[in-house]
Amino acid sequence: MGSKKQIIAGNVKIGGDARITVQSMTNTKTSDITGTAAQIKRLEEYGCDMIRVAVPDMTAANAIGKLKENMSVPIIADIHFDHKLAVRAAEAGADKIRINPGNIGGEDRVKAVADVCSRMSIPIRIGVNSGSISASILEKYGGVTPEAMYDSAIEHIGLLNKYDFDDICVSVKSSSVLTTLAAYRLLDERTDYPLHLGVTETGTEYMGLVKSSIGIGALLADGIGDTIRVSLTAPPEREAEAGVAILRALGLRAGYELISCPTCGRCGIDLIPIANDVEKRLNELGRSITVAVMGCAVNGPGEASRADYGIAGGAGEGVLFKKGKIVKKVPMGMLVEELFSAIESEEGEF
Ligand code: SF4
Repeated sequence: MGSKKQIIAGNVKIGGDARITVQSMTNTKTSDITGTAAQIKRLEEYGCDMIRVAVPDMTAANAIGKLKENMSVPIIADIHFDHKLAVRAAEAGADKIRINPGNIGGEDRVKAVADVCSRMSIPIRIGVNSGSISASILEKYGGVTPEAMYDSAIEHIGLLNKYDFDDICVSVKSSSVLTTLAAYRLLDERTDYPLHLGVTETGTEYMGLVKSSIGIGALLADGIGDTIRVSLTAPPEREAEAGVAILRALGLRAGYELISCPTCGRCGIDLIPIANDVEKRLNELGRSITVAVMGCAVNGPGEASRADYGIAGGAGEGVLFKKGKIVKKVPMGMLVEELFSAIESEEGEF
């Protein structure tokens, strides 16, 4: 799993044998230190391993120093166009810089950013997206294609390498899932750099979740990618939750798994609110466990036999089951309580 090269942002390793990490980006004004610090703290609680902040001006660049005084989570400075902001953010204590060397200006400016990042020992993410590809590459490929995105990344890597900088990770995000998938596959096949995965500008939350899950999930399932950011037109906490959920669904992060059936004409309980309630309580419990909520006792325990514990509806009363075997019959109104008292009676992880 992951790329061959490893980089380090603050106390977090990216690439090589490091675990896959989750990122999100604050949407507060970075210069609002109190508001930004509060949001960063929330994002950490939601499972973010690194957090990116926008640096549109010098006040924001300086704010990174203040933010870093009270937190250990790596802060990534997101810079567009102005190399002076990247230099200041790095000097202020940013743990990583995200730029597009192609839109930073002349090569002397790229060198200034490479030099300060070398001096501060911090990596750079080259963030290529559909809108950042040079006119010459677009002309060569006739538009935004996976090859065009790959070439753009290689061009930007070359710019940094020219100034002896190779502490790099790369992203090639498109709003098209298929273009994104193909561009990352090219990078994975042809380079050793850690890859930051994401599908960008995905639309509203629902479609964004679908596109990100397919794009990020398909790559991770093939062992491609080292750190992920789910981009949603929604509060960043939702991005963090979604990122962690994608990793959990692929077995890449510990946590609970809820198995619940889609319901059918055999369903003997009001399953949807019960499943939501169980999920909320599993979230609070914070243990690695697989739990099933199934509509009927006839098929439920068998269909969910890989669950550590489960409940299923029935005629008049439901059942509690463990690894597919019915443990006892339970009055309908007591199913969730019985489930959690059984889980809590067992020590440790499942
Ligand atoms: Fe239908 Fe029972 Fe399967 Fe749920 S567990 S889908 S209710 S057969």
